[in-house]
Amino acid sequence: MEIQDLMSDIRKNALQRMDKKLPVELSASWSSEDLLYSGKGNAIFIILPTPGCVHALSESGGCTMCSYIADSPLETVTSDELVDIFKNLMSRHEIKPKTALKIFVSGSFLNEDELPKKARDEILKTLNNEENIEEVVVESRPEFVSEEVLQECCNLLHDKIFEVSIGLESSSDYIKKYKINKGFLNEDFERAINTIKSLKSDYKITSKAYLFVKPILTSEKEAIEDAVASARYAEKAGVDRISFCPATIHKGTLMELLWRRGSYKPPWIWSILEIIKRVRNEVKIPVIMDTSGFGTRRGPFNCKKCNKKFKNLIIDSNLSQTIPEEFKCECKRNWIGDVEFSEITRSTTNLIR
Ligand code: SF4
Ligand SMILES: [Zn+2]
Repeated sequence: MEIQDLMSDIRKNALQRMDKKLPVELSASWSSEDLLYSGKGNAIFIILPTPGCVHALSESGGCTMCSYIADSPLETVTSDELVDIFKNLMSRHEIKPKTALKIFVSGSFLNEDELPKKARDEILKTLNNEENIEEVVVESRPEFVSEEVLQECCNLLHDKIFEVSIGLESSSDYIKKYKINKGFLNEDFERAINTIKSLKSDYKITSKAYLFVKPILTSEKEAIEDAVASARYAEKAGVDRISFCPATIHKGTLMELLWRRGSYKPPWIWSILEIIKRVRNEVKIPVIMDTSGFGTRRGPFNCKKCNKKFKNLIIDSNLSQTIPEEFKCECKRNWIGDVEFSEITRSTTNLIR
């Protein structure tokens, strides 16, 4: 069975089981310290209840690790309603000097079928009036990145940085196609990045690549190598920042199904540390490691003694862009065993093939 057919079935089942929620119940916001292009600052995160990612709603069923569709109302939300929700969420936060505003639509901010132009314009105009906001960060699949839409956004933001983040996940087209079901290839990503780059002389526009750590059907060792290779590739392609997302198990995904059957587990935090060390030595642009879900049952793990300590070290290293100071923990032996064992099973599998 093709991965697309499998994903399509899994998605249909998950959607049938979903409890219907009102758009306002699906919105959320929070703030935290963050690294801006100008140095340490503050970020406000806003989740808007748009109708859901077109890729996840298509026959392809979407990406194998993503359940953002479960955070979508699956029906049209009017522009006025979206703008009201946005303004209401904004009003809950003090906008301190040096703030980045990050908008998540569980899909593509630049796709007008997900976020109508009227709402997009109104949101950007509102942000343009906020003096303390330095950066506006949005997400999009590459097919919605066009010169025209980027110019429309930048013209509304004047002197603020407008950053488009693209979920490249891996620089390997094979992994994107057969392990993530991403629905686009490196050439699509490069086209989008080149479009962004071509506007840099006229606007304060930047790009970011999201890279996924440890897709399904990937060994611990392969996950490390793929993450490092993908960071190298993204820098070469011309992105301005990289954000790694280590796997956590989302509900209603193929990843969850394999995890329940014992055929998948999220990466070790030791692997994450290894990736940070290697990438910080090789890549010169800012690199952030997301730590959501660290130490939980469904997220990256080490052992109870060191999960939290390493999580905090990684958060600090995101702000300082330095390599976290490593301390000893006996669980490292098990990680080394896993990395080596995954290689033995891989070469044995290759021999059998
Ligand atoms: S990861 Fe992004 S592109 Fe893939 S299904 Fe989720 S929202 Fe859509
Ligand atoms: Zn430990």
